[in-house]
Amino acid sequence: MITSLSWLERVPSYKEQQENLTGKDLTTYGFLGYPLLQAADILLYQPRFVPVGQDQAAHVELTREVARRFNHFYKFDAREVLPEPDVLLTPSPKLPGTDGRKMSKSYGNTILMTDPEPVVRQKLKTMVTDPARIRRTDAGDPDKCPVGDLHKVFSTPETLAKVYEGCRSAGIGCIECKSWAADALVQLLEPIQARRASFSDLQVEEILEDGSERARTRAEQTMQEVRAAMQLTKPG
Ligand code: SF4
Repeated sequence: MITSLSWLERVPSYKEQQENLTGKDLTTYGFLGYPLLQAADILLYQPRFVPVGQDQAAHVELTREVARRFNHFYKFDAREVLPEPDVLLTPSPKLPGTDGRKMSKSYGNTILMTDPEPVVRQKLKTMVTDPARIRRTDAGDPDKCPVGDLHKVFSTPETLAKVYEGCRSAGIGCIECKSWAADALVQLLEPIQARRASFSDLQVEEILEDGSERARTRAEQTMQEVRAAMQLTKPG
């Protein structure tokens, strides 16, 4: 209720997706309000940090603004109820999709954690590369290539060194380079997929229910403070 409309209109993903998904009507409250829903989901747990990718940093910034305004309006026992969380980025905070744009289910350019090996390899094969590398004999630059970004996150330092050397000297072809990236991804995903397959659907539901119960308990603590600060109830 206290969120300014202009804050939501300013969130970069709002404009970006409207430009990219031209076939869909995104002028809806649901789409505009989505980052606020995320903000509520964050603030409910009063975290100090939010581990996100670079493109979500603006959503965390919105979350901070919402917390700041709430704290400005309402205090509980003379203290701020909602801490402003910080973004927690990894050294490689951005993973491009197979078409080089931001990876997003809406763009159909994702590599999923559930993708079996042949699918991962097929997706890598069609992935875009450094646009300057048109012919096999042209040198490229992994820093300008989405496949290079995948290598930086998933490949060993040895493979990464081979990629830099081979790409910049045109010593390797993109097909070979992509197959190394696929190797690294498959190696990472296989144990995850095997572990997921070892659980029955019932066990998965129990795990989700257990996590949900813990989250609910934590969220309720926050909500008690929020209601008390807003003088909607007496402190519990
Ligand atoms: S060799 Fe690898 S890093 Fe270089 S342009 Fe091709 S796919 Fe990208």
